[in-house]
Amino acid sequence: MSAQLIDGKLIATRILSEVRQRVELLRSKGVTPGLAAVLVGDDPASATYVASKAKACEKLGIYSRIIRKDASLSQTKLLSIVQELNDDPAIHGILVQSPLPKAIDELAVTLAIRPEKDVDGFHPHNVGMMLIGRPTLLPCTPFGIIKLLEYSNIDPAGKEVVVVGRSNIVGKPVAALLMQKGRWGDATVTVAHSRTKNLAEVCRRADILIAAIGKPNTILAEMVKPGAVIIDVGVNRIDDKSTPKGYRLVGDVDFEACREVAGWITPVPGGVGPMTIAMLLSNTVLAAEKSISL
Ligand code: NAP
Repeated sequence: MSAQLIDGKLIATRILSEVRQRVELLRSKGVTPGLAAVLVGDDPASATYVASKAKACEKLGIYSRIIRKDASLSQTKLLSIVQELNDDPAIHGILVQSPLPKAIDELAVTLAIRPEKDVDGFHPHNVGMMLIGRPTLLPCTPFGIIKLLEYSNIDPAGKEVVVVGRSNIVGKPVAALLMQKGRWGDATVTVAHSRTKNLAEVCRRADILIAAIGKPNTILAEMVKPGAVIIDVGVNRIDDKSTPKGYRLVGDVDFEACREVAGWITPVPGGVGPMTIAMLLSNTVLAAEKSISL
């Protein structure tokens, strides 16, 4: 029997309608939440991401500002832009789009963002607060994965979760969230990576299998426990001459084969991706709410 689809687009729409209500409440109190995105260089994918984030903001009544700079921008200049945004009361959330030019130290930039405005949830202050289980701005993709489970009524408590991938932006933080004590946590978490031995065997233990690898067809049907929940974070371009763009997007999971074994599965596109933007906007509104409750 085919797995049930976890429709990230639909769940993101539901979350965004709640975010819209929070925006309206804030605006009725005279506060318009504001998000600034800094884009350095001319990477087309980054430009598309930033434009779609700005469009999503406008739809919800969130003020958005895009600051575009060319790739020759110095680190010192970028840090001073971040500093101005830190001091700007119209801006509640700051994101500096990755990847940055090689000459710029991404960690120095992340450290320069005030943790209260770090809506990506990458600042070590926020990462630390998340790890010790305190309320904070959570990284958008891992937070979106938790929300996908929550809105699908899939309680991770007591379940075996295997996360494949240990990046700072997806694998490590989603593992940290799922191992927390309490609601939408309490899972038994294993983190696998490129040095893991017997990956198939490790994955087959998973009641919830999260793939954040960045390589198509890494998770095959024989690696999936029957009835498992599969969350496919991967976004990979593969050539496809039959499409107008000449490529299509696929995840890290062999979707067609795995859907015959799994109980639940996220599609790519339309699974985790829409949730990431929804949680970014939710974080921006949270930062604005906190700014008036201080
Ligand atoms: P990353 O930094 O490249 O990390 C990839 C991880 O996968 C690493 O930990 C790596 O292991 C592991 N890995 C690579 N090949 C492996 C293999 N054959 N077997 C087991 N593990 C393997 O990637 P990322 O930033 O986490 O992103 C992962 C994917 O998610 C990408 O496709 C990215 O585009 C996508 N993504 C999507 C969203 C979204 O909103 N939908 C957001 C963020 C990322 P090592 O640590 O040993 O090298």
